[in-house]
Amino acid sequence: MVEIIPKSAEVVIIGAGVVGTSIAYHLAARGCTDVVVLERNRIAQGASGDGAGGFRQQFSTPINVRLTQLSLPYLLDAPARLGADIETRRQGYLFLLSDEASAAEFRANLAMQRELGAPVRWLAPREAAELVPGLRVDDLLGATFCPDDGWARPPLVAAAFARRAEERGVRVFEGCPVTEVLVEGGRVRGVGIQNGRIAAPIVVDAAGPQAAEVAALAGLELPAAPVCRQVFRTAPFAAIPPRAPLTIDVRSGLWFRPHEGGFWLGKSDEAEPPGLTKHLDPAWGEHVVGLACARAPAFTGARIAGGWSGFYMMTPDGHALLGGFPHLGGFYCATGFSGHGFQHSPATGLLLAELILDGAATTLDIRPLRPTRFAEGEPIVERYVV
Ligand SMILES: Cc1cc2nc3c(=O)[nH]c(=O)nc-3n(C[C@H](O)[C@H](O)[C@H](O)COP(=O)(O)OP(=O)(O)OC[C@H]3O[C@@H](n4cnc5c(N)ncnc54)[C@H](O)[C@@H]3O)c2cc1C
Repeated sequence: MVEIIPKSAEVVIIGAGVVGTSIAYHLAARGCTDVVVLERNRIAQGASGDGAGGFRQQFSTPINVRLTQLSLPYLLDAPARLGADIETRRQGYLFLLSDEASAAEFRANLAMQRELGAPVRWLAPREAAELVPGLRVDDLLGATFCPDDGWARPPLVAAAFARRAEERGVRVFEGCPVTEVLVEGGRVRGVGIQNGRIAAPIVVDAAGPQAAEVAALAGLELPAAPVCRQVFRTAPFAAIPPRAPLTIDVRSGLWFRPHEGGFWLGKSDEAEPPGLTKHLDPAWGEHVVGLACARAPAFTGARIAGGWSGFYMMTPDGHALLGGFPHLGGFYCATGFSGHGFQHSPATGLLLAELILDGAATTLDIRPLRPTRFAEGEPIVERYVV
């Protein structure tokens, strides 16, 4: 008889967003093909479907810069790497700086980023206005710009990872929620699904905003929580050219970037409590549009055509949780990306595959990102969470 869902696998991955599919792809690329990905919904319809798709080398910690750099070959050359067009736009990220403290901090971090090979530049306000015609720059002290930053479409990346993994033998089941994590003798033994069980010595929690719920099935408490984030979309308008970079006003927290003739606008609401309820708040939208009009008066002529919300999976220090657990052999997590999980997903797959297959990630030391770092008193703070 044909076995549809196997009774056992070498690795079970929970979640088929960009992260779970990337891990599956990289395991398969290393020859570990007895891998089953279980997705309760459909591929890339969680946070990966809700994201803005940005990637940047401008972070405040070397490890976040390196995670993007390791991901760049996939994001900038997906047709060659993944056999797929992921609609990459290499239009740069522009950070606008209007107070002394931020300017000093960004200057210092620019030096760190350049040392790591990122082509980040300091710009005078006039040069920022050349990149984004219509920008108000009279209050700026300067800006930082990296032309190799940009954006792409996360669902296309997840689909490409999944297809390439399936070609090598990985199996991906959608509409298949994991309801149980089987644990015995200090080791993970597999997972329970609605109609049975899959035995596996290795289980990876890549469940995005639900990763803490999945970890709880294994008796673990993850230091991460989902927080709702809102994005608003303008109708097409010509006052700001579509070649503009993704622009971040550091003082207000506003970001905007071109999309299909219009713009996406957003800002993280720091007062938003953790929780798994999506919502779009008109008053927040008005606040965000007001900030956009103040920074680039051309936005006053734009019509808001829609918006959506989704979840950042936040950790207390703004860095991902990547790794295993001392008291539960075989269980790994890759979550808590704090709004950066798309751009760090290719690197995450590469590094998790090394950790699982070799016992340690060697391309980049990810021990600083181990999920137990908070309990051990070793958080590392990312300052540029947008
Ligand atoms: C508005 C917004 C803007 C963003 N902008 C950016 C950006 O510009 N750049 C960037 O890098 N990142 C950005 N992000 C973050 C990025 O989208 C996420 O970090 C990334 O998509 C996380 O991918 P994931 O695979 O971990 O999670 P997901 O895509 O959520 O995948 C997890 C999957 O697990 C499944 N799952 C959950 N529980 C179970 C279960 N019990 N059994 C089976 N399956 C389960 C879910 O259905 C889901 O499909 C943004 C996010 C939002 C919301």
